[in-house]
Amino acid sequence: MALITHERGSVLVDAGQSPGHAREIRAALTAAGLPEPRWLVYTHHHWDHVWGACAWPGVQIVGHLAGERLLRAEAARPWSHRYLREQVRAEPRLGPSFRARALAMDSWDDFAVLPPTRTFTDELELPTGVRLRHVGGRHAPDSTVVLVPDSGVMLLGDCFYPPPWHLRQDGDAPDLALVRRLLDDRYHWYVSSHADPMTLDEARAAVQG
Ligand SMILES: [Zn+2]
Repeated sequence: MALITHERGSVLVDAGQSPGHAREIRAALTAAGLPEPRWLVYTHHHWDHVWGACAWPGVQIVGHLAGERLLRAEAARPWSHRYLREQVRAEPRLGPSFRARALAMDSWDDFAVLPPTRTFTDELELPTGVRLRHVGGRHAPDSTVVLVPDSGVMLLGDCFYPPPWHLRQDGDAPDLALVRRLLDDRYHWYVSSHADPMTLDEARAAVQG
């Protein structure tokens, strides 16, 4: 997750993996005296990026159109620990993802999967100057990178990761060519969702093919 603070309202990038996780982050933002998020941007529709959304009141949720369609379907599923167990029994490849969801969720009360309320297809600029650029790719069709020009930071989400485990095929690997295309001298930091931030030089070295 990332928070881009701004006097017009902060931009929160990804919601947290559960309402409980989101509430912890919210408490930390309040304790740090940071402004409440006004926009919540999804880097993509995967559960660990969006399941906390229902614990962020008053935000406009912004996401790519392809993710909105997928999240509508996700929102209609009868999520519970029992449902997760049944789904894994029917399709064992779902195990790693669904077991992680079961561990992340301590209560399903008031839980809802929230599709974005504002969608875009190619690019969108928020009033704070934060820019969203759809890149798609094998990890998720709605993968979006978030550009913060005045900080020189590019938030990559999971865009270059291989597909999730239950969809992975032989030969799937990180899409380094996608990252190479994104590298830009005006951006000094490259931050993916599940790894330490990299400087431009580190990112260049990491994607050299
Ligand atoms: Zn993902």
